[in-house]
Amino acid sequence: MSKTPIAADVVIVGGGLMGASAAFFLRQRGKSVVLLERGLVGQQASGVNFGNVRRQGRFLPQLPLAHRARDIWGRLPSLIGEDAEFLPTGHVRVVHTEAQLASIEKYAADAKGWGLDLEIIGPAQLRKRFPFFGPDLVGGSYSPTDGHANPRLAAPAFGRAAGRLGAQVIENCEVLAVEKDGADFRVSAKDGTVVHAPAALICSGAWGGAMSAAFDEPVPIRPNGPTMAVTEPVPYGIVPVVGVSSPVDHEVVYFRQVKRGNIVFGGGRRNPAHLDGRRAQVTPQFTLAQLHELRRVAPALGKLHVLRTWSGVEGYMADDIPIMGPSARASGLYYAFGFCGHGFQLGPGVGDVMAELIATGSTTTPIEPFHIRRFAAAPAKAAAALA
Ligand SMILES: Cc1cc2nc3c(=O)[nH]c(=O)nc-3n(C[C@H](O)[C@H](O)[C@H](O)COP(=O)(O)OP(=O)(O)OC[C@H]3O[C@@H](n4cnc5c(N)ncnc54)[C@H](O)[C@@H]3O)c2cc1C
Repeated sequence: MSKTPIAADVVIVGGGLMGASAAFFLRQRGKSVVLLERGLVGQQASGVNFGNVRRQGRFLPQLPLAHRARDIWGRLPSLIGEDAEFLPTGHVRVVHTEAQLASIEKYAADAKGWGLDLEIIGPAQLRKRFPFFGPDLVGGSYSPTDGHANPRLAAPAFGRAAGRLGAQVIENCEVLAVEKDGADFRVSAKDGTVVHAPAALICSGAWGGAMSAAFDEPVPIRPNGPTMAVTEPVPYGIVPVVGVSSPVDHEVVYFRQVKRGNIVFGGGRRNPAHLDGRRAQVTPQFTLAQLHELRRVAPALGKLHVLRTWSGVEGYMADDIPIMGPSARASGLYYAFGFCGHGFQLGPGVGDVMAELIATGSTTTPIEPFHIRRFAAAPAKAAAALA
């Protein structure tokens, strides 16, 4: 089916939180935008994640971007007309051992220099302030201004707001090729849609690697599915988001309670995820292991019925940090994908920064550590890291 080609300043591939927020902020900067999404906006990782709006525990050079994102989360109602149920409830990171307490104490000292103030709390105070914790925790660190939001709402809200500002958001539109066509990009979709634009932004999440490889920039990205579940509702009493910090993978569980009473939890081992099928199925044993770990942290949680489990397809880079910035090979091409299980909090900041980069040629927030060129020097070594 041939359609009249569309011309725009920027074409965005992928309508997760990154693509949808980038469309919004590009329109705010006066750029014409077409966003092409294979399914529905926010249907993949951005819509099924845990909803953690957490800064503590991040790679320190990522904190400036996380701060920019946190500022936007707090301004959503005035910015896009909806709050996506963002609540700055605080976030507590708890530990099981003295060695891990020393590790989060060091993180708190280092994070201060990056503009994040964390409070270290000893075991007695921890249980006094948060009575749902069990007796075996050794301590924790508290970030008062982090919180959580509803992932089902955030990306669609940005997509609608971008549309109101004049972006063309085209759903059910699978991009088959992104090619250089003279000075422009030509982006062709399965339904016959063709977009010409001098700038193309790849925000296709776990599927981003195939698109960068087409421009001779392969990256070591692997799909995986975090294990998620939600319990029956109980009276609201767990205000902060809670996460365990541990070097032992299966101990790293996290949970939050929504105002309606249900407790959402996740963490531990990740499931296989399928790029072609666009699905990740939960392994029941992983949920059972999560319940065991949750009981160690908050014993009462072990008594609750689990209503539903799910997973989602997320792209993990070999070095556990995303790809963000311009292509090293094609001028006008930009990437923001592979957010390694921690992109929801960053999302609005990523859209804002990518819009700034495309509109002005530079960013006021440093994103150099995320440049795709870090894999150019040793692609074979990076690929081996995934084997
Ligand atoms: C279960 C789970 C729990 C998580 N928990 C958290 C959390 O608590 N906190 C946190 O910060 N992060 C969390 N994350 C990570 C976070 O959800 C992601 O990092 C983030 O949503 C990535 O956004 P994105 O826009 O890059 O990708 P996505 O949301 O995956 O969007 C990419 C979009 O590109 C589209 N697309 C792909 N190929 C094409 C194509 N050829 N044509 C058109 N469209 C295409 C897809 O359909 C998809 O909608 C979690 C992730 C999962 C899966």
